[in-house]
Amino acid sequence: MNRVKKLEEKVDINKFTKEDLLTMAYFEPVTLFYNWNWMRERIAEPKKYGIDTFAFVHFDIKDFKVVNELYGHDVGDNLLRKVCDILDEQDWAYYCCRCDNDNFAMMVKKIPDDEIRARLEAMFKRMEFLDEDPSFPVYFRCGVASIDDVEAYGATITDLAKMAQHSGVKPNETEIKFYTDKMREEQLKGKMLQSDLDRALAAGEFIVYYQPKYRPSDNILVGAEALIRWDYHHEGIIPPSEFIPYFEKEGVIGKLDRYVLESVCQKLEEWKHKGYKLVPISVNMSRAQLYSPVLVKSIEDIVNKYDVDRKYIEFELTESLAYGDTVYLIQVMNSLRDMGFMLSIDDFGTGYSSLNLLANMPLTTLKIDKSFIDGIGEDSNRRVNYIVRNILDTTKDLEISSIAEGVESETQKNLLRDWGVDSIQGFYYSKPIPVDQFEKLFSKE
Ligand code: C2E
Ligand code: CA
Ligand code: CA
Repeated sequence: MNRVKKLEEKVDINKFTKEDLLTMAYFEPVTLFYNWNWMRERIAEPKKYGIDTFAFVHFDIKDFKVVNELYGHDVGDNLLRKVCDILDEQDWAYYCCRCDNDNFAMMVKKIPDDEIRARLEAMFKRMEFLDEDPSFPVYFRCGVASIDDVEAYGATITDLAKMAQHSGVKPNETEIKFYTDKMREEQLKGKMLQSDLDRALAAGEFIVYYQPKYRPSDNILVGAEALIRWDYHHEGIIPPSEFIPYFEKEGVIGKLDRYVLESVCQKLEEWKHKGYKLVPISVNMSRAQLYSPVLVKSIEDIVNKYDVDRKYIEFELTESLAYGDTVYLIQVMNSLRDMGFMLSIDDFGTGYSSLNLLANMPLTTLKIDKSFIDGIGEDSNRRVNYIVRNILDTTKDLEISSIAEGVESETQKNLLRDWGVDSIQGFYYSKPIPVDQFEKLFSKE
């Protein structure tokens, strides 16, 4: 309040017209569309605005940062304006607004869910490309909740719609999710697993498996990936897909990744002293972790406790990472490379693959995603064969090594070998195995 009083002394309030004041209160400056204030008042007291019941829609643009990064902020702003223009034409909506950044909200008529879905699909269809580059696809992540959903819980309708929105996870399509009670349960499950993490770590329930990597030309062991398993209450193994996403959402994945790194360092030291011929072991680094300001320091603290050469430790970063803050990302990658670690880009081909971006990254390895490997075959799919061969040629030009993941058949292995892939990881050679089995694969120096 003090700040406002101070301003009052400096600013001549009378210079603003009524229109100016309304614009400042209810519109946001970039798109000149309604802002969250406008919407908030209406959600709080719908009856005052003649609305008995309604559904609430909240959505954002997937990878909006990519648009800004690849095309510049003007193009980004144009996209926001286009979304607002199309929102303005939705006659089945009571009110629409741009909340902030690339977040938008709609208060719509309470019609059956499939009708809402159909209308939203038609609306997003009109927004799904950039005017400046129609070949660039724009996707949305959208959640819907109805005012009836609110009754059961204390949550607000915006919370429920956002919960539904965040359940959308696919990178390359528009997703429209309706709130369900199951989502609520999932959220509770996430909270429960999170609160169980410290106990499980202390109880030794997390186990690191190793999946060997082989050179296909002579079938020699050239490395392995460390993959976490949870032996829940020592009663049975839970795969990572059932807990990693929750830990990522809750922001505690770093604890687990540090645990895996530490186990790998311990093992590398042990193997070194046993006189084994060491191979690099890769550990996954979650995208959520990479922006932690203490990341590099915490890695250094762990590794320094052990007598291991850093060239035997490789970090796998997922490709979708590359489209956040690239400048910062490359800085972190450079620090890790300077410290002597190897760096691999995981799941290559699943994001907006840009070889240009990759060329600027200090990578040692590129890991081609299983979805491509699934598609290769002798004559079956010339296009996928062609793409994979080209990726492999490019890695050669960039002087980084290549690995194919998810290789299951001899045909795949032979094709990849003939196309010059450096190494192969997949069920064709071995599933992820416990450490005692993995150790048996080592030869002595
Ligand atoms: P990812 O990093 O892409 O790991 C490869 C996944 O593919 C592993 O699943 C592996 O078992 C599976 N895989 C390997 N070869 C084949 C094959 O030939 N066929 C098939 N069908 N699958 C194959 P897993 O162990 O269930 O791990 C799933 C994901 O969980 C990993 O995907 C990774 O993203 C995450 N993850 C696992 N361990 C960790 C960890 O310690 N930290 C973090 N942050 N993520 C982890
Ligand atoms: Ca991986
Ligand atoms: Ca992968």
